Amino acid sequence: MSNIQPTFIGPSTYPCRIFSLIFHDFCILFFYFLLLGKISSINHPFIKMFTNNPINSQCRPIAICGRDAILRSDGSPLTPSDFDALLASLSVDDHFEEKETNIHVLSFKTADGLSSDYLLTPIRQLFADLPDDEVLLYARARAIATWRANTRFCGRCGSPLNEHPELSARLCPACSNLIFPRIEPCIIVAVRKNGKILLARHVQRNQDIYACIAGFMEAGESAEHAVQREIFEEVGIKVKNIRYFGSQSWPFPAQLMLGFTADYDSGDINLQKDEISDAQWFDPDSCQASPRPGSIAYRLIHSHF
Ligand SMILES: [Zn+2]
Repeated sequence: MSNIQPTFIGPSTYPCRIFSLIFHDFCILFFYFLLLGKISSINHPFIKMFTNNPINSQCRPIAICGRDAILRSDGSPLTPSDFDALLASLSVDDHFEEKETNIHVLSFKTADGLSSDYLLTPIRQLFADLPDDEVLLYARARAIATWRANTRFCGRCGSPLNEHPELSARLCPACSNLIFPRIEPCIIVAVRKNGKILLARHVQRNQDIYACIAGFMEAGESAEHAVQREIFEEVGIKVKNIRYFGSQSWPFPAQLMLGFTADYDSGDINLQKDEISDAQWFDPDSCQASPRPGSIAYRLIHSHF
């Protein structure tokens, strides 16, 4: 005869057992979704709330607002604890981490409500103030934030995109279209003639600045072809001895500036009036109205190649 006595589940213990079962199932589901959120690209607010919390990151914190970076009021970079203060006072528009660069970015649409403990600094200014490896982080943050804001749906089928679980990319769940951040290559050229450099004033840009000839590359052409085409279109001259100088990311919004030098070959200056208001040959050391330090345009003008 068995000694095991049947357990009587009376009215007082029954609700507790039901609650226990519900709580147990909830815990299983919670950790299941938590794991799912980590390993998949599901873009659900509930999952993201637990898997992508901005203040839990160990990466380098960077905050941007449009074309500006948010720094501490003394100009120093943010620390992880600054993220808490910014999130408490501003409404975050987007946030993301990048394994490749080890940055964690908060992106804000407006800085209304920003504490006096912080300041807005144009990212363009950082190109002049910071070393190259530091500038790269801000340029990357700005470029990716802009791309994410403008790349929410699949260009092939129109479905909402998911985050790629490993890459800085977005993936279409319907047609598997994989979309990487867009880069727009541009050429920028310093043309020399008898020790002088050709600089132009653009109609659409700052009228006080004389800058190198620059323009977007067209689909299908080489960078060298773009150099010849752009110069001939804008000022009507032909160049020779085109040489690569260097490059610079210019994330306003997605340019990669490819710098070249070239020698004058033939032709007289003939302005493309809707693009260029003036173009002249300058002594590079005496030209005051040139681009600000930090830009590849400044380096081209003052490189004495
Ligand atoms: Zn698609």
